This record gives sequence, C-alpha cells and structure tokens, in this order.
Amino acid sequence: MSDQVNRRDFLKRAGVVGAAMAIGIGSQELQANTRRPNLVYVFPDQYRRHTIGFVNEDPVLTPRLDAFAKEGVYLPHAVSNYPVCSPYRAMSMTGQWPARNGVMANCNSSRTHLDNFLKKDAYCLTDALSDAGYHTAYLGKWHLDGPPSTPEGERAVWNVFTPPGPRRHSIDFWYSYGAANNHMEPYYWTGDGGEDSRIDIKQWSPEHEADQAIAYIRNDGGDHRDADRPFAIFLSINPPHPPYHPVPDRYRELYTGKSVDDLLVRPNVARGESGNKRAPGSVLDYFAMVSGVDEQFGRILDTLEAEGIADDTIVVFTSDHGEMMSGHGRMSKNVIYEESLNVPFLIRYANGIQARTDDLMLGTPDIYPTLLGPMGLGDRIPDAVEGVDRSSVIRDGSGVRPDAAAYMRLPPGRPSGGPRGVRTHRYTYQYGRPNQDAMLFDNTQNPYQMDNLAGKAPDLVKEMVGQMEAELERIQDPWLDRRGG
Ligand code: CA
Repeated sequence: MSDQVNRRDFLKRAGVVGAAMAIGIGSQELQANTRRPNLVYVFPDQYRRHTIGFVNEDPVLTPRLDAFAKEGVYLPHAVSNYPVCSPYRAMSMTGQWPARNGVMANCNSSRTHLDNFLKKDAYCLTDALSDAGYHTAYLGKWHLDGPPSTPEGERAVWNVFTPPGPRRHSIDFWYSYGAANNHMEPYYWTGDGGEDSRIDIKQWSPEHEADQAIAYIRNDGGDHRDADRPFAIFLSINPPHPPYHPVPDRYRELYTGKSVDDLLVRPNVARGESGNKRAPGSVLDYFAMVSGVDEQFGRILDTLEAEGIADDTIVVFTSDHGEMMSGHGRMSKNVIYEESLNVPFLIRYANGIQARTDDLMLGTPDIYPTLLGPMGLGDRIPDAVEGVDRSSVIRDGSGVRPDAAAYMRLPPGRPSGGPRGVRTHRYTYQYGRPNQDAMLFDNTQNPYQMDNLAGKAPDLVKEMVGQMEAELERIQDPWLDRRGG
C-alpha cells in the first residue's frame, strides 16, 4: 500500500474521529455507531425477473432467492432502461444516461473510436464509496472499456485488460475481465499486475467468483481488504448469459425429465415455424444456470451470516437486462418487451429497510443515488448524477415514486438516434409508425404483450406519446430534437 493511500485513509479516519470527539462520543461508541453498512451488489447477466421461483412465472428452482426475497424489498417493476450490457453498466456506475456518460452501445473495438467506453474521469459509484471510506471490490465481468480500435471490416475485439489506475475507478480489490463467455474456463486479471498476469481457471465462473467473494468477505489471510473499513463488493456474474450449455451437470439434473413444453411456459413463446430455433435447446440450460447462480448467491449469504455481519450489510440481487428465450420468437435482449426490460431487484438490509414488495419503478441511473441513501451517504450524491435517489421508498415506502420509465436504444456515437419508448405501471409504448415499429401494450389486460394496440387505440397512443415525451424531457434526451433521425 502506498504512502499516499495510507495518508488518505488516515485523513478519512481522522475526520470521523474528530467529528465524534466534537460531539462527545467515546472511541468504543464510535466503533459501534459510525461504521457504515457494507454493500454486496450481485448482478448476474441476462437474468430476467420472470425467472425467479417465487414469482411463479417460469418453472425454475431458486430456493435461496425465494427466501432472500422475504427478508427484504422486492421491486417487481424494476427496469433496465437500455437493456443491454455496457449501457446498463455505465448507467449504474455513473448514475448518468448514455447521452452523458458516452456508453451508447456495447463496448468493443469497432466503437472505441466513437469514445464508446467508460471515461476515466467519470465519478463512479465506486469512486464515491471509496471517498466515503469504503474498501471496494469488483469481481467478474466489467465490459466498460474500449479495446484498441480495429480496422473496418475486421472482426471486433470485445475483451480488454483494464490496467490499474483511474480506469478502475477506485476499486481496491480487482478480480475481473472485460467481456468473455468462457464459463467453464474463465480468466481474470487481479491485483496490480500487467496484462501478462492473467490467471486462467478451470471452474464454473459463478462458483469461482463466489469463492473469491467469500474469501474477500472473510478477509482470508488478512490481505483482501482493510478490516477497519466497511466494504462494498460488486459481483458481476456472467451466467445465465450465453452460451448456455457450459453449466455443471448437477444443476442440469434439477430439471431432469422436463420437456421443452414443461419449461417454455410463457404464452408468448412462438411455436412451430415462427418459434426461435435456439430456445428448445437452451431453456433447460438457462434454468440450470439460474439455479446454479442461486446456489452460489446462497453461499455468499451464508458467509455474511457466519461472519456475523448479515444485518450490517446491504445485499442487492439484480441483473443488467433479461432474456427473451423465444418470447415473440426472439432470443437475447435489447428490446422493449418485458422479458428484456424487467429485471429482478431484491434488496435486503435488516438494520435499515422494511421487508415488503413495492411497485417502485426503479430505473438504472437511480441505482447509484438510491444505494448511497441507506449507507448514510445521501449528502454525497454528486451533481453529475442524473438518477433520482429513491432510497426513502426502499426504506419505508415514503417519498415520490415515478410513474414512467424511459426505454432507449442508441446507435454508438449518436445520442439522438434509435428507438425510444416508455413503460408505466400499466402500459408499454414504443414510438413509431402504427403497425410497424410502434408497439403499445396494456400489461394489465395482456401481460404477455401479444395484442399490439398501436394501430387500434389512437387516443391511448396520444396519451402515451405525451407520457414518453415528458419522461424524455425530464432526462434531457437529445432524441426529442431529432426523433431518432
Ligand atoms: Ca449483459
């Protein structure tokens, strides 16, 4: 540890002690009263909300999440406003919309020349936590840096080494990679080594990353973190992201005997010729991965319990976007349909929030300010953060709830381009020409979004256009000036 870091840590602690002495708190009380809660933020990739057991939609086994949900707040209306990897990650890390943070599409080498990567001077959630005295850790997929540009026509490079320094945004414990999908043979860069220090592992990546997270939480060997400081750990698990087949058999066996029809139960799953060819061979593995992630998440919960810090730790389980899995004949994400947009969001903090289900439509840029609230850092939300602090709603249901969430997709480097839409508690609307790209669904009457009202209900379309424009106005979306032109 450098002298500079030691000095910074010393000054942080000196500040706390100084303030406590001024109001007459002894050092033991200080220890008990001023330690902020830890944060464990777990976000597997491509995990739709419908694939949690207790919500009774997909026939999936997630016993740990089912129990966890009862202990905290469950947000069935949480959305990923731009449901694809890097834009979600940049929005949650900066609290800003893509037009401001610059990550307008997935990071890869074909887009680096458009500055489509997380800027090193962005003041990220991890920077704010570090400045507030937290020891910070990031494990798993990062996917926020731009690999060196490749010539046009050449295959794009997705994975890149993030060197120690400002591109790691004050993350003290780094165990990560850029973008890769070798679930059974993952690799990572850790510590302060260079690109050649990559370590290659033969273990299912969620299990390996849980092992590392557990070692960090327990501070095995005393060298993972500074035990005097609260910690914040971001665990970015890749599964249930494709490819789906690299999953241990023990999770696949949970679904032995189930037919494709037993598993693909959503009425909007296209069948026959219009069905997606990949879904029948993928759905069992997708659910197996979900059950595996559930087990690994459970091991982390068990560790918090065993260490006696479960009540002092905020635990979040969410995802960057969902997976269509042949809904409307599609696979993957990056569309406005619920299977893509609607993500799990479960948050537990025994010492700070009342367990319940809440209809808060939490958006992606809101995550940064909303997490700082229960950590006692609500006064440290930077002005550059555009998301709204919804922590009072999370805490006890008080405060303002938004009635609309923006949906967007952007061409890299062109913030005014691409489709836009809006989701309310009842409706989903995508702007466009009736019966072409326009979509309007009444999710109360038609939860599987199979009846497009865009060409049938002109008054409702008008109302939804107004609601969408108001929301895009609020978030200062440049699209409004150009209408996707
Ligand atoms: Ca993703």
